[in-house]
Amino acid sequence: MNLRPIKYQWAYDLYNQAVANTWFPHEIALGEDLEDWKKMTDDEKHAVTFLMSFFNPSELIVNRTLALGVYPYLKAPETHLYLAKQMWEEANHCQAFEYVLETFPVDRAAIFKWHLDKPAIKVKEDFVTNYLSRLANDRLDINSPEGKKDFVRNLVAYNVIMEGIWFYSGFMVALSFRQRKLLRNFGSMIDWVVRDESLHLKFGINLILTILEENPDIVTPEFSQEIRQMIIDGVAMENSYNQAMFPHGILGLNADYVNQYVQYVADRRLEELGFTPHFKVSNPAKWMAAAMDTLELVNFFEAQNTNYEVNSLANKKSETQN
Ligand code: MN
Ligand code: FE
Repeated sequence: MNLRPIKYQWAYDLYNQAVANTWFPHEIALGEDLEDWKKMTDDEKHAVTFLMSFFNPSELIVNRTLALGVYPYLKAPETHLYLAKQMWEEANHCQAFEYVLETFPVDRAAIFKWHLDKPAIKVKEDFVTNYLSRLANDRLDINSPEGKKDFVRNLVAYNVIMEGIWFYSGFMVALSFRQRKLLRNFGSMIDWVVRDESLHLKFGINLILTILEENPDIVTPEFSQEIRQMIIDGVAMENSYNQAMFPHGILGLNADYVNQYVQYVADRRLEELGFTPHFKVSNPAKWMAAAMDTLELVNFFEAQNTNYEVNSLANKKSETQN
């Protein structure tokens, strides 16, 4: 119950960065976007609302996961500081997406329910909540190898797959409208969300790598293969979701294009976890990286080959030994 001495400096650094990144949805006026909305086709409106209908409840699912499946199992106070800030950010994102849905003239009651009605969305939600329920309901013994593995599985599901792959797929679709000079203020809002999410992802990946480093007993070939397969399965779920988002495709964008981006992002996540890439495709949306580079710390993982805190510590140790 004492912050000092700090054991995981990376977690404390992320907390301070997150506090510096604080923003509020209503700072962004959506009047111009509402004018754009009136000019957009039904397929384009469907894509935006489909996206919002997944994002909005997802923010709450991530929060539930942090509260019930991550926070209770961590002991270091610096990780609790970070998670407290992340939970506020997820609440803020939920409010931001509600603000968008309340601004655009859409059938809100129907759209708020899509995550239950649309199989392609429900499958994704169920995937994440299944892993969480093992931690939230069963109160696993976190000191047993099986408990540690379930903890890591849950981190991979909500952080690497949901926040690190599915969300990036949605960000790309959302920001593609700005590429065409549409929904530019909405795009700015997404920029702020991406900046937050890039820290969530950095925290999650650092956490996973730290757990694996501190618990080498769970790092077996079978477990590694299972984690790799989870990510590949996550990509398949996103492919079906994108088919439902783009039944016909819109100007400059269709399901195949988005799916290739998803595969590209998934390979980056695999590499960040120490795996070899699986899909080996090029980034079809190079403008994404360029758009992201303009914000400090944004797109952390896309822009550079990450040098992890845990690895750099290990490197420093071996340097002094040598
Ligand atoms: Mn979020
Ligand atoms: Fe997040």
